[in-house]
Amino acid sequence: MNRFFGLSHIFLLEIKRLLLGTKFMVEADVTDSCNLRCKHCYHFQDKKDLEKKEVPLEVWRKRFDELHNAGARFILLVGGEPALRKDILMLTDRIFPFVYVITNGTIKIPKEFKHRIYISIDGSQNTNDSIRGEGTFAKIMKNYSGDKRVVINMTIMKDNYKELEEIVKISRENSFRGVVCNIYTAIGVNTSLTIKEELRKEIINELKRVKSLYPNDLLLSKAMINWYKYPDHRDYCHWGDNAFHFDVSWKKRRCFGNNADCSNCGCLAGSFQSPIKMLSHPSEMLKIGFV
Ligand code: SF4
Ligand code: SF4
Repeated sequence: MNRFFGLSHIFLLEIKRLLLGTKFMVEADVTDSCNLRCKHCYHFQDKKDLEKKEVPLEVWRKRFDELHNAGARFILLVGGEPALRKDILMLTDRIFPFVYVITNGTIKIPKEFKHRIYISIDGSQNTNDSIRGEGTFAKIMKNYSGDKRVVINMTIMKDNYKELEEIVKISRENSFRGVVCNIYTAIGVNTSLTIKEELRKEIINELKRVKSLYPNDLLLSKAMINWYKYPDHRDYCHWGDNAFHFDVSWKKRRCFGNNADCSNCGCLAGSFQSPIKMLSHPSEMLKIGFV
């Protein structure tokens, strides 16, 4: 879809939501399986809720058709590892105009999937592989180097935030569209990596420094970086309150995972704030949102 038409389409959908209450954004786990076991992963912390069997494609078709009939037009596919379910990715391609996927990048998504792909990379090769597993960085580059569908999605933590600039260089060297970041947000039982106030300030200074050096490659606007300054969004979060969120069993929730800590949030999805606020940073939005 043409980028400018796409952005205007999203604004019109938001106006409709404001007038009629029609939610149009969806976030869904499409599988509970993953080929990696990253150190900071929330998905496998509390295994009791996980679906052991894959949900058949026909069930997904029914779920997505119902959502589309209810007005949904934008879907973010997460997991587990969504690239394990290429059939679902291609199904969403046929049903929704706006499809996004967050993947670990080790399983190649076919060229026919013409949507934005966010690949999780958490540092230089050594740092990334120490978090995500030996050999993952090389696999990602083999699968995607030069692929314009890709935006790097970094999870910022205490031990890797100084590598943000390095990640931006990796993005440039591989002709990716740029870099977005989440500040680690505790989800579930493991809160040992929770970002405390002092560290958050240092991270925000680093985000600002790298943004000033690479304004076209670090795709966080000033407004988004400022959102990260005040992490408590328990009372209101556009993403949490105005999008549909589902786990694999189709249970509703407020955000990624079943127990996201909205009192200490660093989620990129929250930092967008709303499609109307996105007007204040259109150049970042066009690159983040449209291939
Ligand atoms: S790739 Fe994602 S789902 Fe898989 S283990 Fe890593 S963080 Fe968890
Ligand atoms: S505040 Fe953060 S964790 Fe909570 S719903 Fe919003 S984006 Fe998700």
